[in-house]
Amino acid sequence: MQDPVLVINCGSSSIKYALVPSVPQAPRLAGLVERLGAVDARLTGTDRRGQRVSRALHGAGHHEAMAAILEQLEGLAPIGVGHRIVHGGERFTAATLLNDAMMRRLEAMSELAPLHNPANLEGVAATRRLFPTLPQVAVFDTAFHQSLPPRAYRYALPEALYRNLGIRRYGFHGSSHAYVSRRVDRLSDRAQGGWLIAHLGNGCSTCAVWQGRSLDTSMGLTPLEGLVMGTRSGDVDPGLHAHLSRRLGWSPARIDTLLNKESGLLGLSGLSNDMRRLEQAAAEHHAGAALAIEVFSYRLAKSLAGLSCALPRLDGIVFTGGIGENAAAIRARAIDQLPHFGLRLSATANAHAVDGQEGRIDAGGGGPQVWVIPTDEEAHIAGETRRLLEIPRP
Ligand code: ADP
Repeated sequence: MQDPVLVINCGSSSIKYALVPSVPQAPRLAGLVERLGAVDARLTGTDRRGQRVSRALHGAGHHEAMAAILEQLEGLAPIGVGHRIVHGGERFTAATLLNDAMMRRLEAMSELAPLHNPANLEGVAATRRLFPTLPQVAVFDTAFHQSLPPRAYRYALPEALYRNLGIRRYGFHGSSHAYVSRRVDRLSDRAQGGWLIAHLGNGCSTCAVWQGRSLDTSMGLTPLEGLVMGTRSGDVDPGLHAHLSRRLGWSPARIDTLLNKESGLLGLSGLSNDMRRLEQAAAEHHAGAALAIEVFSYRLAKSLAGLSCALPRLDGIVFTGGIGENAAAIRARAIDQLPHFGLRLSATANAHAVDGQEGRIDAGGGGPQVWVIPTDEEAHIAGETRRLLEIPRP
């Protein structure tokens, strides 16, 4: 494997890793440590020959998990480590080298993303302890959206909240939107055009990209704004918070849990946050599952239509993420609700674009195109890391 970059995506209870070689299509060594801190903590993944690996890591914390990941690398030496960092605020518009001063700046920024950044930084600290001489790079979920104009990133709130507390829209899933928009620019005959991207995984967001730059996106100050997600509500009336507090005496923390963990597909269906499970249940006439799918698809179409205002011209829509790459029926439902854009799917191409297949799924003609492009956030993070390390630093 030539000049690999180790990509780390560290959450509070899991660490995803991938050793990404410089040749884009070459096989990767990759895996996941789950249930950090629990007795049944476990590492699962594939080795460089593509064989499955599964190891119990009883009670492992971040440091022990990183040490286990290091053992999995089979002696392959990465040229650098790229870390996914959720929030880079306004300060970080591109990948940045991680040193002590940078760690302090990121710690200070954690209040913007208390649910994500502290866990990301714990992964960085553990990796720096284990690889003290290896360059480490922060790649931010927010960086791709730093091209948003003020009309897209400002909330209609008093200026002081923006100036003093950084309250504005930032957007997330930047590595995915950046990767997919570059890829569609390469694959389509409408290169450098106007694209709407729907990243639909457990978290979901849409993004309007013009000539490779993000002009608007559905997530905001936090990854809660916008679409219906697995367990997140997406947009609700901001008056809901005061209402729940008055009627039920709920604290901000209780409302946070409601909106982040108990809502979305799970809350609507009363059954599951998993789209596969919901599609099955809806086929068996489960009313909650059917409603969850209907609301999810309608809100997706509505978000795409809204974001189209950001673009001078609409060249097409791209679906990605676990749902976007596999759920042909959800894609069809959303596109069917956008007939005024002249969008029409090819039923056959749509049905075949599953299980990691990349391709165009519209019925042809001169209107906007529709594509399915499997995302590869690791490739983007590795690419940004490589780019930063290869540029000579003053
Ligand atoms: P994450 O955001 O955690 O990376 P993924 O991108 O893997 O998540 O997306 C997970 C979602 O994709 C789940 O709702 C899952 O049910 C859905 N999904 C995966 N495969 C399919 C499929 N074949 N049909 C419908 N939904 C699917």
